[in-house]
Amino acid sequence: MLNQIQNRGGFTKVEVVLAVLAIILGAWAFPYFVRRQARPAPFICLAKLKLIDGAKELWATDNRYSNGTPCFMTNLVPAYLKTEPVCALGTQPYVVGPVGESPVCPHYTPAMRDAEQHTLNPGRPSSPGKPGH
Ligand SMILES: [Zn+2]
Repeated sequence: MLNQIQNRGGFTKVEVVLAVLAIILGAWAFPYFVRRQARPAPFICLAKLKLIDGAKELWATDNRYSNGTPCFMTNLVPAYLKTEPVCALGTQPYVVGPVGESPVCPHYTPAMRDAEQHTLNPGRPSSPGKPGH
């Protein structure tokens, strides 16, 4: 009978094997999850800013607007962006800004940008010195 195979009070071989497999799987997957979570929110914010910038460029091109033309999120959603991007760093909306200028996130500080650039280009100075006059 099955009960005779089972070691009373202990674990069956199947249970032990499953437990070991779960531990191995967990140890293998753990760094993956850590890496996923380590992708910082500023990085995601930067991607959304680029998305807004691209949508704004399309909007300006389609409508033949020149640089300096004011653009708002209502101009881009839903024609050029399915939904309004929301920053993971805070609740303030993105500032689209005029054509020809980069959109701005109220939560994405210059310090974050420098840190991000340092991450993307390790070894390079985060803010290159301006040439003297
Ligand atoms: Zn942001």
